[in-house]
Amino acid sequence: MSTGAGGPKRKRIRATGEMHKLMEAHFRGLDESSRTGRRNVAWCTSVGPAELLRAMDFDVYFPENHGAMLGATRTSTDMIPAATALGYSPEVCSYMTSDIGAFLRGETPLKRAYGIESIPRPDVLVYNTNQCRDVQEWFSYFGRQFNAPVVGIDSPRSVRHLNEAIVRDVQYQMEALVPHLERVTGEPLDKGRLSETVELSLLATRLWNEVLETAASSPSPLTFFDGVIHMGPIVVLRGTQEAVDYYDMLLAEMRGRVREGVAAVDGERHRIYWEGMPIWGRLRAHSELFAGLGCAVVASTYCNSWVFNDFDPSDPWRSMALAYTGIFIVRSEEAKERYLKEMVKRFDIDGVVFHDSKTCPNNSNARYGMPKRLQESLGVPTLVIDGDLNDLRCVSDEQLVTNVEAFVEGLG
Ligand code: SF4
Repeated sequence: MSTGAGGPKRKRIRATGEMHKLMEAHFRGLDESSRTGRRNVAWCTSVGPAELLRAMDFDVYFPENHGAMLGATRTSTDMIPAATALGYSPEVCSYMTSDIGAFLRGETPLKRAYGIESIPRPDVLVYNTNQCRDVQEWFSYFGRQFNAPVVGIDSPRSVRHLNEAIVRDVQYQMEALVPHLERVTGEPLDKGRLSETVELSLLATRLWNEVLETAASSPSPLTFFDGVIHMGPIVVLRGTQEAVDYYDMLLAEMRGRVREGVAAVDGERHRIYWEGMPIWGRLRAHSELFAGLGCAVVASTYCNSWVFNDFDPSDPWRSMALAYTGIFIVRSEEAKERYLKEMVKRFDIDGVVFHDSKTCPNNSNARYGMPKRLQESLGVPTLVIDGDLNDLRCVSDEQLVTNVEAFVEGLG
């Protein structure tokens, strides 16, 4: 897909180089742990109990991040058929099917990026179904392949009232993971270290939130398309000092842009909210499409999904349960609507684009009338685009461009 030669280019964020170094060190460390057994490797879902795993000195690997790399390198679509041949429906999570497909074909984008031959071998796989049930199936597949234990938290979904009973249930399930993990490490959990790790996650997540909040300025210093790149460390390195230092640096740069009036999109005319997942294989094209139309995509549900305000180092278990069950994806339609209304107002949004992602109903919020309700209650125009996070067979580029252009024209 092209938006035409000579279109606007994404303004490079200086901190990007540092982020690439961090991500490379993360993958090299995992590769070494996997090959030498120097540290145990735990696989974790993207909003799984990473703090607990880090506190127990696991090297933590996030398969969804690998799925996003497959998508961003536009190799995912070629991998999916291998998983389909094994009986995984093309309609289930395309992170999962592309990741399983890549494994079956012996391929990984880590090779081209870092010369790393394969994904790290897990000693244990730990999921949380707060985001979806697909992660449970995904981890079960790899648990069978690597003959490694699979443990997890079965969280409630579509939560209207996040009451004490729910929080206690999740907390209990988190605490119940400890004996399983201790069997793998052979060491008891150090409770002081758990508090320290939760504190580091809290610091990083606050800074990440502040980075995203700079986009409330007009013009916005960053866009959703920058955000999905720079969220890497909050996903894979939360609970570490490196993540805190990185977001400190990124925040300083974004605040500098705000002070100097540097716009991510020159001549920002419209401010757009992106609801749903990115289409990883079209990031650059979509960034250029919106920028070319004078639109800054200033806020999103997706990037904010790694803002966990409830972490509390003085009460790590309860606060982890609260943080991981209170996030948007776990909540009811009413709670989501309240959240979106607040975001539209706070970021002074002119229009909302809903990405209805074919293989991820969990991150698609256009299916129960939300766009129409938002439009009617706030008077903000909405657009639903069909696509997918990783399966480009579900994306019609021409139709998407036509729809976005017509939508922006309608914004006036
Ligand atoms: S939330 Fe969606 S994209 Fe993420 S693992 Fe589940 S189905 Fe896949």
